[in-house]
Amino acid sequence: PIAPAANFIRNIVEADLAAGKHAQRRWAGQPGLASDHAAGALDPAKIRTRFPPEPNGYLHFGHAKSICLNFGLARDYGGRCHLRFDDTNPEKEDQEYVDSIVDAVKWLGFNWEDAQENNLYYASNYFPWMIQAAEYLIATGNAYVDSQSTEEMRANRGTLTEAGKDSPFRNRSVAENQDLFKRMQAGEFADGAHILRAKIDMAAPNINLRDPAIYRIRHATHHNTGDKYCVYPMYTFAHPIEDALENITHSICTLEFEDQRPFYDWLLERLAEGGLLQRPLPHQYEFSRLNLTYVVLSKRKLIQLVEEKHVDGWDDPRMPTLVGARRRGYTAEGFRLLMERVGVSKHDSLIDYSLLEDCMRETMNELDERRIAVLDPLKLVITNYPEGQSEECFAPNHPLKPELGKRMVPFSRELWIEREDFMEEPSKGYHRLYPGNMARLRYGFVVKCTGCEKDAAGNVTAVLCEYMEDSKSGTPGADNYKVKGNLHWVSVAHAYTAEVRLYDRLFQAAAPGAGDRDFLDDLNPASKVAITVQLEPALKDALPEQRFQFERHGYFVADRVDSQPGAPVFNRAVTLKDSWGK
Ligand code: ATP
Ligand code: MG
Ligand code: MG
Repeated sequence: PIAPAANFIRNIVEADLAAGKHAQRRWAGQPGLASDHAAGALDPAKIRTRFPPEPNGYLHFGHAKSICLNFGLARDYGGRCHLRFDDTNPEKEDQEYVDSIVDAVKWLGFNWEDAQENNLYYASNYFPWMIQAAEYLIATGNAYVDSQSTEEMRANRGTLTEAGKDSPFRNRSVAENQDLFKRMQAGEFADGAHILRAKIDMAAPNINLRDPAIYRIRHATHHNTGDKYCVYPMYTFAHPIEDALENITHSICTLEFEDQRPFYDWLLERLAEGGLLQRPLPHQYEFSRLNLTYVVLSKRKLIQLVEEKHVDGWDDPRMPTLVGARRRGYTAEGFRLLMERVGVSKHDSLIDYSLLEDCMRETMNELDERRIAVLDPLKLVITNYPEGQSEECFAPNHPLKPELGKRMVPFSRELWIEREDFMEEPSKGYHRLYPGNMARLRYGFVVKCTGCEKDAAGNVTAVLCEYMEDSKSGTPGADNYKVKGNLHWVSVAHAYTAEVRLYDRLFQAAAPGAGDRDFLDDLNPASKVAITVQLEPALKDALPEQRFQFERHGYFVADRVDSQPGAPVFNRAVTLKDSWGK
């Protein structure tokens, strides 16, 4: 087994725990929090992390890294991980996304709720508290209402090499700022007419400290607060407050937020000075995001794939979304294993998609029962087997787990075998069926090929064989035959004829859209191939989301959307071996 990769945040957590840094934290219990947030009790959790998605889309494989990291730390160090909807943008958010995120996090095997605590939060529930925090900053001269236009603000912000310029409104009196902020809230002004800014330093080398905006006017209906507010907090203001109110100890985010950390700390320090928050304050840590070959993880590109119908929806099994992965038959265990192997660092890295597939195979090999499927059927007739007769053969459900028992597979005169398991003129080293050769029908009998039948065009339509009556697998006679070929088969009279979708990678280029290319030009035209196949009869009863290894082929799942009772259709999750780049 491959050892888990390094995770520098674990080291930080362990050091903090050893130092007793977060012992006996209390809920802030501040006004404006719903009563269940303000328990006021001693906090028994040693650390608190959070996964804070904005409910404006479906979660993708990248989010799984953040989920596994945050929930994994809480699990491993006796802590708690909150699921928090960062819903501070009224226009973009939707209940559909909230529901899908809840489902996806649960599917990955994590939970935010137990008998003691239910740690599911909405940032929008903290709006009253955030307004008070903004008013406190105004009252202490730490915030002002700016009335410059957006263009003026941008022009006066300066550049990396050039300091910004103070706004002409920067020195408004506290009373004037208080009055204007009240009137902003009362709906007196149009969107963009004024904005509340933190008053820090327009010459700060870090542009994020040049009086960042903290509250803006937005006349929009919010999915949670409706029309109650027409001012909404900026993400950079809201997020640290959310963390502090929830007593988050380690606020973990991706590297692009590194430059925001000074403001995160500035804001929480001001609020703690004023007694609005208690110490110790949360601390932000940044790690590098997950990048994978052969996929795109940008929300804009994913939306384009769906809207332009390059895929069959957000849950298309080829999409790098968690709903897509689930429908494809990928395992939650495989994602957790992948994230352990990828590790957590501050270095940007590109992970080969094969690593993800290997993790899926490894977990599926362990978890999945075996079944028999003939994907490219060719008829085999056993000419010395009585017509109309059949008998029982038994196949183990899992070679590594004898306790899972065996199932019956019926054997009869006419069987389906794979077309590639017969060659009229064998190539060198071919050990399967060709005239004169013997091979074993796995879990059944040894047969000797006597010839084949062809249609007018010369295509083989049936393979003819004779079987060795004393060669049945599991009987003493089985050992009398030494054959090299070992084929799988399904009885024609008993087979379940079904649709199988052979999914492959959505893109055929490792870096879709690299250089000047349009990423759509790198779509793999063969990423979905639907075929009609012959399956062993037990597969007719497969339930949606039941997954199996189809022997010699790969791992397949009964589609959770298109399967009907007694009529499942199957998706290929992954082949048995990696065939890419080989
Ligand atoms: P957008 O900014 O386009 O809305 P997002 O990916 O930032 O998309 P969020 O809902 O804000 O979406 O993300 C929730 C959490 O998931 C954040 O903490 C974010 O840092 C993390 N995350 C997003 N993409 C990745 C990734 N590729 N690898 C690791 N973590 C990620
Ligand atoms: Mg987002
Ligand atoms: Mg985001």
